Amino acid sequence: MIDLEIPKKLTALLQQARLVADNVFRPISRKYDTLEHAYPKELDYLAALLDGVNEGGGGASAKKLTKDKAQKNGANLAAVLGMIELARGDVGLALTIPRQGLGNAALAAVGTDAQKQQFGDQWIAMAITEPGAGSDSAAIRTTARLDGDEWVLDGEKIFVTAGERASAVVVWATLDASLGRAAIKAFLVPKPNPGMTVVRLDHKLGIRASDTATLALIDCRIPKANILGSPEIDTKKSFAGVMKTFDNTRPIVAAMAIGVARASLDRTRELLRVPSAPSDRGHASHVEVELERLEAELEAARLLTLKAAWMADNGIPNSLEASMAKAKAARVANELTLRCIELVGPRAYAEGELLEKWARDSKILDIFEGTQQIQMLVVARGLLGKTSAELR
Ligand SMILES: Cc1cc2nc3c(=O)[nH]c(=O)nc-3n(C[C@H](O)[C@H](O)[C@H](O)COP(=O)(O)OP(=O)(O)OC[C@H]3O[C@@H](n4cnc5c(N)ncnc54)[C@H](O)[C@@H]3O)c2cc1C
Repeated sequence: MIDLEIPKKLTALLQQARLVADNVFRPISRKYDTLEHAYPKELDYLAALLDGVNEGGGGASAKKLTKDKAQKNGANLAAVLGMIELARGDVGLALTIPRQGLGNAALAAVGTDAQKQQFGDQWIAMAITEPGAGSDSAAIRTTARLDGDEWVLDGEKIFVTAGERASAVVVWATLDASLGRAAIKAFLVPKPNPGMTVVRLDHKLGIRASDTATLALIDCRIPKANILGSPEIDTKKSFAGVMKTFDNTRPIVAAMAIGVARASLDRTRELLRVPSAPSDRGHASHVEVELERLEAELEAARLLTLKAAWMADNGIPNSLEASMAKAKAARVANELTLRCIELVGPRAYAEGELLEKWARDSKILDIFEGTQQIQMLVVARGLLGKTSAELR
């Protein structure tokens, strides 16, 4: 039976994440939004602290969560709840914690024991998107060919989160573009590599503390063992292997959306002096009713997200629920953060308030890891029992 109670054993983790959000992220939030491409060096200290906690065997740090993800012991639920707290502090900074890249999730989901051993302590970005391949990842044109004991990668990747800061990148490339999805594989490219260079960093609307890089791969050579999953091209299986990563990561993006929305709602209540307990005046103001509507939307998103994570922890296929959670949570965060600005008024639109930043930060959550429209497609396919070829 489904159980979405927050387990007691997570109390310490969530307290830790809350402290980081309030005392590490919030005080530097505006600084790194303004500095944009400057690396938030304060996070090195945080990463070292988390490592220390791990090595001591106590607590449940972010690194431990990544490692535990494969172990079906509530780690997905822990990761989602922890991310809600961190994103309440700052989404861009949460995306910049060393060794917590999207590539780390891919390694945890589909890496071999040897690869996990070799790359477990690295900060790994994930490079899927190309100028001609965004939502339609089957259109990837970056190539991989075997040359003796090495894979040779050639192509261009855009919008790579942590593409500059990460110490390795999981690069998606095709073994044979004529064979479509089935020939797309993921490769672990450690840095530095003379064949992989950062071409530029993008200036963005939000999550400016997180670097977004364009990478050029020219005769980029890596060991033969660095392929994630099997090198066989199985046209029946499509690219289920690499796509599996998203079942774990979409609820995490949903968690980011819930965190930033929570932050906006709490700050709005504070500024408008509307406490979360219902008023006992016998009637509610328009603002109170509106805030309760937003609370209900947020709670619906939160419950969907916890359900998707709970299913992953219990070995139940959750692609449909992971997409439902991300679609709902990101849409709610977009609407809610803007509505909070309207409710508070001009003060919320000014740089003196983080409310304007949170509205900007929230937009990306409805774009990366699959846009709103793509999540709806995945949901529709799941409900109607259609394949990606039948419904596109
Ligand atoms: C800040 C940032 C960070 C990112 N980080 C990463 C990263 O780390 N790694 C990575 O690989 N990528 C990353 N991305 C890329 C991101 O995942 C893509 O931008 C996203 O998948 C959309 O692809 P696209 O930009 O090519 O848009 P397109 O696919 O061209 O879509 C444009 C519009 O058309 C809609 N659309 C597309 N296809 C359909 C369809 N079949 N039905 C209905 N509507 C459709 C989309 O929803 C969207 O609204 C990042 C992007 C940004 C902006």
